[in-house]
Amino acid sequence: MFLFSSCSKKDKDPNGLSPTSPVKEMTNYLVSQGFDEQHIVFDKDRVVIESDIIMTIPDLEQRVATWKREIQAGVPQTEQRRNTYIVSNAYNANIKFYIDPAVPANWRTAIQGAVNNWNAVNGTRLGMSIVTSQASANTRIFMGYENSNWIARAYLPGSDSKPGVTVEINSKYNDLAASQKLFAITHEFGHTIGFHHTNQTSGTHIPGTPTVDANSVMNSFVLPWNGFTAGDILATQILYPQ
Ligand SMILES: [Zn+2]
Repeated sequence: MFLFSSCSKKDKDPNGLSPTSPVKEMTNYLVSQGFDEQHIVFDKDRVVIESDIIMTIPDLEQRVATWKREIQAGVPQTEQRRNTYIVSNAYNANIKFYIDPAVPANWRTAIQGAVNNWNAVNGTRLGMSIVTSQASANTRIFMGYENSNWIARAYLPGSDSKPGVTVEINSKYNDLAASQKLFAITHEFGHTIGFHHTNQTSGTHIPGTPTVDANSVMNSFVLPWNGFTAGDILATQILYPQ
């Protein structure tokens, strides 16, 4: 079984960031959203959560500001698997992915397959495509390397309601089976459109979807691709109705 998500305790490393209130405040916000503090790692201008979900610090600052305003205004803080922000209608009918030239052919096959998977979900306005110019893309897919247990990782949509800006693939897993590559990329695309992990408690539960969904593509472990679950499809239809 391959994990996206590490359960080992990691030291937080607020490189370059003030160790006082901003990081503490951002951490408090993320914990309030249901993320486990042990799975929050500050890394320069971004934060990596549950190993494969990324937010930029400016985006996080925006979220904290909104969160504080809501608390002051007495907005109820609901039980917390969807992200606060999803992709707006300006982008969600055709999310454009650009594939960096260094991405190997077998990962490209998985990327095309993941686009096909999401496009095949009925009853949703969600659409995706691969574009050949980075300038016209919403999301860039590129290769990275880390001797770690994340296979790929992606940004969530930000407070600007645009798709997550990148998907990074860990070249350590270049030999992963094709069907697991397909699962992994389909999963990461799920993050870029605002899905959290089905088997964790962060984000907001999507009403009407099962609370336990062992084969969901949004679980934080990689299975051989065997299609979306009914819960995955329902969640997509709810987030992105036609
Ligand atoms: Zn994930």
